[in-house]
Amino acid sequence: MNAPIKEPSFRESVDMMFNRAVSLMDLPPGLEEKIRVCNATYTVRFGVRLRGQIHTFTGYRSVHSEHMEPVKGGIRYAMGVNQDEVEALAALMTYKCALVEAPFGGSKGGLRIDPREWDEHELELITRRFAYELAKRDLIHPSQNVPAPDMGTGEREMAWIADQYHRMNTTDINARACVTGKPINAGGIQGRTEATGRGVQYALQEFFRHPEDIKAAGMDGTLDGKRVIVQGLGNVGYHAAKFLSEEDGCVVTGVIERDGALVRDGGLDIDSVHHWIANHGGVTGYPDAQHVSDGAGVLENECDILIPAALEGVINIGNADRIKAPVIIEAANGPVTAGADEVLREKGCVIIPDMYANAGGVTVSYFEWVKNLSHIRFGRMGRRQEEARHQLIVDELEQLSADKDLGWTLTPGFKQKYLRGAGELELVRSGLDDTMRVAYQSMREVWHGRSDVSDLRTAAYLVAIDKVAASYRALGL
Ligand code: NAD
Repeated sequence: MNAPIKEPSFRESVDMMFNRAVSLMDLPPGLEEKIRVCNATYTVRFGVRLRGQIHTFTGYRSVHSEHMEPVKGGIRYAMGVNQDEVEALAALMTYKCALVEAPFGGSKGGLRIDPREWDEHELELITRRFAYELAKRDLIHPSQNVPAPDMGTGEREMAWIADQYHRMNTTDINARACVTGKPINAGGIQGRTEATGRGVQYALQEFFRHPEDIKAAGMDGTLDGKRVIVQGLGNVGYHAAKFLSEEDGCVVTGVIERDGALVRDGGLDIDSVHHWIANHGGVTGYPDAQHVSDGAGVLENECDILIPAALEGVINIGNADRIKAPVIIEAANGPVTAGADEVLREKGCVIIPDMYANAGGVTVSYFEWVKNLSHIRFGRMGRRQEEARHQLIVDELEQLSADKDLGWTLTPGFKQKYLRGAGELELVRSGLDDTMRVAYQSMREVWHGRSDVSDLRTAAYLVAIDKVAASYRALGL
C-alpha cells in the first residue's frame, strides 16, 4: 500500500514556491539563502491574572527580512498560531511589500489564544501585556516594527497596542505610527478596515481588464454575473464579497464559515448573512439559504471565482483535484498548498496569488503610517483648492454658453461629481487602485513575457525577489 502523501508545512510550502521562482533567476551565490531565511523569531510566554488565577499565553513576533525598515506585518489571534506559521506569514510579508512597493521589510506576529473565550476587558489586559513585551524589545516601534490587524484582531486591538506603546514612550511624537489599522479617532485612516477586501475587488477588476488573462482561465465576459464562493466572512471575506456583489454584479452563491456553509444559486445577501453571523455566532439557522454542514466541501462546488478568505492550507492535495473554479483569488494567506498549486496549475486553473491578492491591507497601512508621520490628514491642504479650480472651469463654461447663447447646460450629476474635491477616502481608494493595477501589470509582464513562467504566482515571486535582491545589493550585500 502506498504511504499517504505528506503535505509540507505552511513555511515549507512558501519556501517551495520561493525555490521554484529562484531556480529561474540568476542571483549571486548566498543571496538566495539570505533572502529565503527568516532573520529572527522572538517567542514570549507571559502571565496575566484573570478570573482569579494566572493564565500563561504564548506569543511570537517574527522578522523575516530587514532589507527595509521598519518591518511590517499583522498580529494574529488564533489557537493554531505557531512558529512555523508566523515565519511563513512573515516571509509572505517581505515578498508582498516588495511586490506592491510598500517600503517595508517583512514581519508577522501571533498570539495563541481563542479570542472568543475572553471578554473585552480581559482581551484588553492580554493585548496590552503582549504589546508591552514586544515594545520593550523594539518589536513594536514606528521606525523598526509596525504591526497591523490579522485574523482575530481588528482596530480595537490596534488602538490598545498604540496606547500601550504611547504610555511606554510618552515623548515620542511619532508614537501613533507604531501600529496601523487603528480606529480613525486613534490616528487611523479612512478606508483601512475595508482595504484588504477592497484590494481583492480591485485585483479582480484588473484581471478582467485583460482578455488574454480571462481566456487563460477558460472564461469570457466581465465580472458582471460571475458566480462567487467565499470562505470566511470575516474582515477580508465580507468586504470582498460585499463590494463584488454590490458594485460589480457578481453573484455570491456560497459562503463557507466555521459551522458549515450557506448556498443559494440566486445569490446571497452578504450584509444580511454578515449580520446573522454577528448575532448568532455562525451561519447555522440563516433562513434564506440552504445550510450545508460540510462547509469545506462547498469549496468544490461549481463557480467562476473561488475566494478563500479564512485560513491557510484549505486547498491541499486532499481536495485540489476536485476544485472546479477556473479562477482562485487567494484573499487569505497561503490557502493553497504547494502540492495543490501544482495540481491546479496542471488543470489550467488561474490562481491570483496571496502576496498580490491581499496586499490591499498593507498598502493602506502604508498610507496610514505616512499619515501618522506627517501628522496631517490626506486631502486637508489641497481639497478646497481643487474644488475652487474646478468651479472656475464650470463658471467659465456656463458664462460662455450664456454670452454666446449656445444653450449648453452641465448636468447636475456631472457638476456635483466634478466640483467635489478628493477627501481622504477618495485618495486612499485611488492610491490602492493604482497600486493593485501597477502590481498586476508587473506580474503579467513576466507571466506572458517569459516562456519559462506559466503562472501568476511564480511571476509574483520573480518580481518581488528581484526587488528584495536589489535592496540587498544597494546595502552592499
Ligand atoms: P477575521 O478573523 O476577520 O475573519 C476570518 C473569518 O474566517 C471569520 O469569519 C472566521 O469565522 C472564518 N473562519 C475561521 N476558520 C474557518 C474555517 N475553518 N472555515 C471557514 N471559515 C473559517 O480575519 P481576516 O482579517 O479577514 O483574515 C482572513 C485571512 O486574510 C487571513 O489569512 C489573513 O492572514 C488574511 N489577511 C488579512 C488582512 C487584514 O487586513 N485583515 C490582510 C492581509 C491578509
